[in-house]
Amino acid sequence: MTEERFDAIVVGAGPSGNAAAYTMAKGGLNVLQLERGEYPGSKNVQGAILYADALERLMPDFRDDAPLERHVIEQRLWMMDDASHTGMHYRSEMFNEDKPNRYTIIRAQFDRWFSRRVRDAGAILLCETTVTELLRDTQDRVIGVRTDRHGGTLLADVVILAEGVNGLTGQTAGLRDELKPKDVALAVKEMHFLPEEVIESRFGLRGGEGVVIEAMGTITKGMTGTAFLYTNRESISIGIGCLVDDFTRTGQSPYGLLDAFKAHPSVAPLLVGSEVKEYAAHLIPEGGYNAVPKLFGDGWLVVGDAAHLVNAVHREGSNLAMTSGRMAGETIVRLKRTREPCNAANLASYRKALDESFVMKDMKKYRKVPDLLFKNRQFLDLYPRLLSQAAQTIFRVDGTDKKSKEREIMRSMRSARGLRGLLGDVYKVARAWR
Ligand SMILES: Cc1cc2nc3c(=O)[nH]c(=O)nc-3n(C[C@H](O)[C@H](O)[C@H](O)COP(=O)(O)OP(=O)(O)OC[C@H]3O[C@@H](n4cnc5c(N)ncnc54)[C@H](O)[C@@H]3O)c2cc1C
Repeated sequence: MTEERFDAIVVGAGPSGNAAAYTMAKGGLNVLQLERGEYPGSKNVQGAILYADALERLMPDFRDDAPLERHVIEQRLWMMDDASHTGMHYRSEMFNEDKPNRYTIIRAQFDRWFSRRVRDAGAILLCETTVTELLRDTQDRVIGVRTDRHGGTLLADVVILAEGVNGLTGQTAGLRDELKPKDVALAVKEMHFLPEEVIESRFGLRGGEGVVIEAMGTITKGMTGTAFLYTNRESISIGIGCLVDDFTRTGQSPYGLLDAFKAHPSVAPLLVGSEVKEYAAHLIPEGGYNAVPKLFGDGWLVVGDAAHLVNAVHREGSNLAMTSGRMAGETIVRLKRTREPCNAANLASYRKALDESFVMKDMKKYRKVPDLLFKNRQFLDLYPRLLSQAAQTIFRVDGTDKKSKEREIMRSMRSARGLRGLLGDVYKVARAWR
């Protein structure tokens, strides 16, 4: 490969890189996208729920040909102890709309489709090409990349780093710190295949409808983490993830946790008769707002997971990735149109756009939550147990009057945590959620 020059180079072909490359190609820029995988999506793992709004802002017609599995009509939130779950279910016919709001997807198929749209818009994609280094000029401005292809030096006016959570290019170049084990979760996931009609009767669905379950509690064995179960057309995605710091501290194995989750009496019946065909493991940036690195500099921008843009409380990542990719792309298209250089001063408008959007507003809103959960493990272990115990006491009819049952619940809560502890925890949650 010889030296070539592009308006922009995008490192990575996940949702953030595809959104950036698509926006710039549509804006008439000469865009090169580099992906280390054999094809876009081959290295990617996601649950996965697609939030339509973020994609619709890029491609209003995406529903015409995107590989979508089911539109979500029911959300279940489960607080689990070893034998039970206390849940909140929200199911609504209003989600059966012309343009549904959330879909389950399979990332390998979805990323491939997205990438085809990016190439149709005019971007050039090179797969099996790993960016190994950022090139800089004498004034330390980023002017291109080096790749693992022989002689692979490529020049551009700006480089967008969309390389995901463990993006080594940005780390090696000193644009952001190495990942800290307390800021990143390790998630493992399996795909369980079942006939379409079995999934629909098991979850009470009609053609195309889907259910998603988010779960927390003793299933993570005192570690900070969550589990999920999503219905696809002919499969169920199931997974669990906890902070890397917690896995190191406890010595628990991620697959051990997943096996225990699958065997839980609330989960096992949902998987009966299924055939497991795929396993995967991936990191998720969960450090929140305080872990967001510098997002731009002379000749570079960082988007998506590489920028730590994940809202772990609401399990949103791909929409923040696509939105940040789109905003980075729009910033560059604007600068090109006005013939202004892609220097730090001009690229700052990317950060401003993010700050004014739901992306940074939500990241900021939950900035205290990672620390709250990391330092207060009772929320993910003790309280799910107490909740289950309380439900058991109330719902079991055994000749005890209800007033005495209420007293028993209060007594067991006080003896588990103490009145001060309970009030302190309520205060901590209220402060973190403000
Ligand atoms: C188990 C799991 C479940 C999840 N569930 C959901 C969900 O339900 N909904 C949701 O919205 N989000 C979910 N997420 C988060 C979501 O997957 C991410 O937020 C999203 O994929 C981030 O997109 P991205 O483009 O920034 O990074 P990625 O999707 O990680 O893409 C980065 C790309 O860059 C490539 N790359 C890396 N380094 C280089 C290099 N040096 N050179 C060339 N290419 C490189 C990689 O191969 C990859 O294709 C989940 C994540 C996990 C792990």
